[in-house]
Amino acid sequence: MSDTQLLLEDMTWPEVERALASGFRTIVVAAGAVEQHGPHLPLLVDAARGDRLALEVARRLGDALVAPTIRVGCSEHHMGFPGTLSLRPETFAAICVDYTESLSRHGFRTICFIPSHGGNFAPLADMLGELRAAAGTGCEVRAYTDLRGFVALWEGAVRELAPGLAHRVGGHADIAESSEMLCIRPDLVREELAEPGALVSFDDSVAKRIFDDGFRAVTPNGILGDARGMSREIGALCIARVAEGVAAALRDG
Ligand SMILES: [Zn+2]
Repeated sequence: MSDTQLLLEDMTWPEVERALASGFRTIVVAAGAVEQHGPHLPLLVDAARGDRLALEVARRLGDALVAPTIRVGCSEHHMGFPGTLSLRPETFAAICVDYTESLSRHGFRTICFIPSHGGNFAPLADMLGELRAAAGTGCEVRAYTDLRGFVALWEGAVRELAPGLAHRVGGHADIAESSEMLCIRPDLVREELAEPGALVSFDDSVAKRIFDDGFRAVTPNGILGDARGMSREIGALCIARVAEGVAAALRDG
């Protein structure tokens, strides 16, 4: 099937019926965010990256469709910046449960949740039991919940192409994420405003400060890492390496 036909929202009900009958029993759901991404990127970054990542992962899994991205996520730690929208974890869980129930009732047998936003990883890990109960017997729910692993895939991709710039990967609105946006929505990238943010390595203590004290306490401009040096070439490799890593983890269950 062509890419367009993998997108559930773009299909008609007879097309979905035929896809299910011909063995498309897996569906990928991205969980994004509408939140600040530094002075140079729009708020939709994680929602748009989620659309793309879900499609790339579905292609690699095979026999998989793509559900509509959950566009708003758990972004309380970004509320210090104007425009950010945030769901309470219980609202986010309720949405994921309802997606799961709907998709399971139509006959999907494997539902894969993939966060394209850092704040959704822990809530997804926490709700997995609830999602599996909602799916019922015969339907499996999988989720990619390794945030540090995700950032490491970005770092690996940047190192492959530009070893001297790998330290600019910080995990948010950095060289990797900005490069991905040059591939996905170049019209919305204010490249001339790219600048360094907090240059920290994304370890557990930084994550704790971010989630306890808020993003703005760690990085006044909203960037973790450094956005400078972005390119379409780096973006394409970041998209591919993340999709490969996430698909492999989902395949392993
Ligand atoms: Zn992001």
